[in-house]
Amino acid sequence: MDCRYSIVVPIYNEEANIPELYRRLVDVIDRLDGKAELILVDDGSRDRSLALMRQLHQQDARICYLSFARNFGHQVAVTAGLNFARGRAVIVMDADLQDPPELVPALVQQWQQGYQVVYAQRTQRIRESWLKRVTAYWFYRILRRLADVDIPIDTGDFCLMDRRVVDLLNTMPERNRYIRGLRAWVGFRQTAVLFDRAPRYAGSVKYTFRKSLALAINSLVGFSRVPLRLSTYLGLAAAAISLLMGLLVLYWRFFTPGSPLTGYTIITVVVFFLGAVQLISIGILGEYIGRIYEEIKGRPLYTLSEVGGFQAHSTRIQTARSAISEDEAE
Ligand code: UDP
Ligand code: MG
Repeated sequence: MDCRYSIVVPIYNEEANIPELYRRLVDVIDRLDGKAELILVDDGSRDRSLALMRQLHQQDARICYLSFARNFGHQVAVTAGLNFARGRAVIVMDADLQDPPELVPALVQQWQQGYQVVYAQRTQRIRESWLKRVTAYWFYRILRRLADVDIPIDTGDFCLMDRRVVDLLNTMPERNRYIRGLRAWVGFRQTAVLFDRAPRYAGSVKYTFRKSLALAINSLVGFSRVPLRLSTYLGLAAAAISLLMGLLVLYWRFFTPGSPLTGYTIITVVVFFLGAVQLISIGILGEYIGRIYEEIKGRPLYTLSEVGGFQAHSTRIQTARSAISEDEAE
């Protein structure tokens, strides 16, 4: 199948959104200047999402789908979609219609102007909780200060990427994927298209607090070594403080008998402080070492239980290092 555009949509329990998503996407696809395929990636949904995807695939040949054998997470689902996408330009968007399909022509237009990455940047978030807004606001700004690459603020995974960029992402074997970071890392000509982030169309948020926190830690650890250096700084600060305290003790010993630095309190406080510094440092080390361990095991990124619409691409299925046998691949 020769196609110009691929649209990748990760899906985790989104049965309430799929019909509307399809309706709005098809409207947009029909007006694009080339053939398009829609790749729905089922991230181990437990509702009727997969059944709906099968049904759409049957009635519309442009719809292809992948189904994971369990929930692997949003970033992995997007990665799988990128592994299988065949278009010259690949668009990634959420299933809950927070990323408006109607923005796709604007992304495409920038691509045609010669940009290899066109990311959608939020100007505002409509009707999301203040906690989410505040944490997201600070997260993107802190990450930007700490990361080795310039990751644009207030951008999610909603973007268009040129084939060259997608091919590069596909060669990156790392398991702890923060796609926004990797996308910034590859370089090329990148630009933003501004949009207002709409509220969820239906259903509840699938990015639980735990998943969001894991993503935030992943992005920091994956793109910055500042946390590692933090323990050095803390150690140096503790050393400076203890030197100062030593001098003070000497001073008090000689000049003010009846020193205030007696009693258990100060000792307890110091012991706790140093204990905390050490534990935090070990924790930070652990984050990095745990990731080294994850990478070294080299397990496939995901396992597929079902594939629809990729007949001619069994080789691609193998290069995707997924654990599906060829006869299963339709
Ligand atoms: N998602 C997924 N796997 C997960 C969690 C989420 O594929 O484990 C998908 C979800 O179906 C949606 C997108 O990722 O299409 C974004 O999820 P959500 O809308 O819950 O997150 P937020 O809007 O807070 O970024
Ligand atoms: Mg959402």
